[in-house]
Amino acid sequence: MAVRARILVLGAGVSGLSSAVLLLERGHAVTLWAREDPLHTTSAVAAALWYPFEAGPPERVAAWAARSYVRFLELARCGVPGVVIEALLDLRSPAIDPPTWVRGLEGFVPLAQEQRAGFEQGWSARVPVIETPLYLAWLAERVRTLGGAFERRTLESFAETRGFDALVNCTGLGARELCDDRQCYPIRGQIVRVPRGPVARALVFHHANGSFGYVVPRARDCVLGGTAERDNASLELDEPTSRAILARCRALEPLLPETIVSAAAGLRPGRDAIRLERERLPDGRALVHDYGHGGCGVTLSWACAEDVLALVTEALN
Ligand SMILES: Cc1cc2nc3c(=O)[nH]c(=O)nc-3n(C[C@H](O)[C@H](O)[C@H](O)COP(=O)(O)OP(=O)(O)OC[C@H]3O[C@@H](n4cnc5c(N)ncnc54)[C@H](O)[C@@H]3O)c2cc1C
Repeated sequence: MAVRARILVLGAGVSGLSSAVLLLERGHAVTLWAREDPLHTTSAVAAALWYPFEAGPPERVAAWAARSYVRFLELARCGVPGVVIEALLDLRSPAIDPPTWVRGLEGFVPLAQEQRAGFEQGWSARVPVIETPLYLAWLAERVRTLGGAFERRTLESFAETRGFDALVNCTGLGARELCDDRQCYPIRGQIVRVPRGPVARALVFHHANGSFGYVVPRARDCVLGGTAERDNASLELDEPTSRAILARCRALEPLLPETIVSAAAGLRPGRDAIRLERERLPDGRALVHDYGHGGCGVTLSWACAEDVLALVTEALN
């Protein structure tokens, strides 16, 4: 490495932690400032299924998703906590042109009509499931082991960051205020958790009336979703919504237990296009942005972190 720089990463969700790991592995001195610690971020609410959703632009998202898919397969094979590969069934009405990202998935097969539960289109494949509380704890530990420093701190302005050679902005929805970025918006999601039960595969479904849902089996529970309410920033839980989510999921996955153990809501960091680019602060230092990943920040995390590393490296050389 040509330069060992002091890098400040803002945000300790999946984007900030993944970027910090790669920067530390490259030999930089990394400090993380975050308003919330990893287990209290939006990232910790995600189930999380590897699945591109509510993010753009489509071609960049598909490419980041494909690269991150390969990374997650490796992590699952190495036994990283919270990362496993599961069978996924994807059902949809009306049919759409299959997205490009399905092509490279392990075990991808289109489903015959009798396997589609009345939906017009369906496919199955094997995809990563990332149990975020376990996985974020592993990422945070990796940052510590590599010598990264954490501080609970809310940044109001980039002027507060003197002493660092370059900055990486992974503040998710927080970028709306920090960068005065009016292109950011919340996409509220509610989930319910039920006991693990005998469910053997993950499921995503899109009904013709616009409602959708998912079932994500994890070590000790199943996460069921979902909702996607643009511009709704409420974290209050809605009981009828929880019951409706459970009913929709049980209609397609009757093996699901009936008891709701807990529910949660989170605000996906929506943006028409993910912002992954570099700018220069007035004092000449590089500021790399990586935020606005909508409903698939976990899905895209490794490839985006690799691009962050490339942008930082280029700026320092
Ligand atoms: C219900 C739900 C289900 C989801 N399911 C999935 C899924 O199955 N698969 C998937 O890939 N994705 C899923 N997502 C989306 C995913 O959670 C997000 O895209 C992802 O968490 C974004 O990660 P991030 O690190 O960019 O942001 P965040 O996790 O929001 O982290 C942002 C960090 O920045 C910090 N911060 C913000 N402002 C400041 C500031 N001014 N100063 C300092 N720190 C600041 C925060 O405290 C936090 O540490 C889901 C989201 C929800 C809500």
